[in-house]
Amino acid sequence: MSTIAVLSGDGIGPEVVQCAVRVLREVRLDVECVEALVGGAALRAGKPPLPDDTRALCDRSAAILFGAVGLPEYDSKPLAERPEKALFSLRHDYELYANIRPVRVFPGLEGSSSLLPSLVQGLDLIVVRELTGGIYFGQPKERRTAADGIEEAVDTMFYRAPEIERIARVAFEFAQQRRRHVTSVDKQNILETSGLWRQVVEQTAQSFPAVSVTHLLVDNAAMQLIRRPAQFDVILTENMFGDILSDEAAMLTGSIGNLPSASLGTRGNGNRRFGMYEPISGTAPDIAGKGIANPTAAILSAALLLRYSLDDEPAARRVEQAVESAFRSGARTADLARGGARALNTTEFTDVVVARLPR
Ligand code: NAD
Repeated sequence: MSTIAVLSGDGIGPEVVQCAVRVLREVRLDVECVEALVGGAALRAGKPPLPDDTRALCDRSAAILFGAVGLPEYDSKPLAERPEKALFSLRHDYELYANIRPVRVFPGLEGSSSLLPSLVQGLDLIVVRELTGGIYFGQPKERRTAADGIEEAVDTMFYRAPEIERIARVAFEFAQQRRRHVTSVDKQNILETSGLWRQVVEQTAQSFPAVSVTHLLVDNAAMQLIRRPAQFDVILTENMFGDILSDEAAMLTGSIGNLPSASLGTRGNGNRRFGMYEPISGTAPDIAGKGIANPTAAILSAALLLRYSLDDEPAARRVEQAVESAFRSGARTADLARGGARALNTTEFTDVVVARLPR
């Protein structure tokens, strides 16, 4: 029996994670899903954003299935008192440095994309984002009042070569299994960290002779993603650039509610790595509680969990095929429905996915 820590969090988190748990239980009877508080849900219970008992559950689990955290009511608080603190602690403490974000346009969804269908048809790329370094974690990071009485703030973008090398290896290893091309994205013309990034990526590429690598500046990469997205196979980039580019890439698929993610680290081994699996979106406060959120990202995150933490490729494929089949059948949540098509609510869409799981 494998234990999965289920941390649903805030906003639409619980609405979509329960769909993912439902699908997970359909394909694996030997998985124990244990829920625990995180984020605003923990703060409201008088606990810190990542309570000790939640962390203890994660410690003894094979993986974490995560929803999202953050609510407008906490936005003005310092980071330590905000729901998002939990997310950064989990990533940091479990050293979940490799964030994998598959971007796929399922057949039939081309018409929901922000781009012309001809540009996104069959689109299949992966963003490999460094997740525990860069400007989100570098020190100093603070707001302060300077000696002259003026308010100021500083964030620090910082990378050490081994941090770059290990994420580059992940990207090259993925590329080896795919179309064998890595696009490394940086801002080498301005940033010192990007100079080091490019150098280490080039060095790492020597160990992967079958994989070609090109380098793009992040501004150009943002443009190329909407100009000709099919040119990308694996996009390798640092923390903040990956955060932004993957939201942009999400819209190629029609909705941010489609994109799952896996955050993998150093714990576990071989094909049973400990990881955290979550939609790339936030808590969507504008639609939370209405039961209309698209659960695809959460369901596909469960598929990634099966693949990377439970070493169950057949079950992962079954889930992905069921989602693909649901889209082929015309099932759409409100964020994807176009041209007056009837939108299914969160539960109805999940019903279609479950019904289409290959037996
Ligand atoms: P968001 O991703 O929550 O929402 C952006 C837009 O996308 C909204 O219009 C929302 O309705 C829509 N959307 C998102 N997921 C959807 C889904 N599954 N189905 C349909 N529509 C969906 O981003 P935001 O509004 O900028 O942030 C809201 C809160 O989430 C903030 O507090 C932010 O800090 C937090 N956040 C958390 C995470 C995380 O937990 N990993 C990530 C990003 C933002």
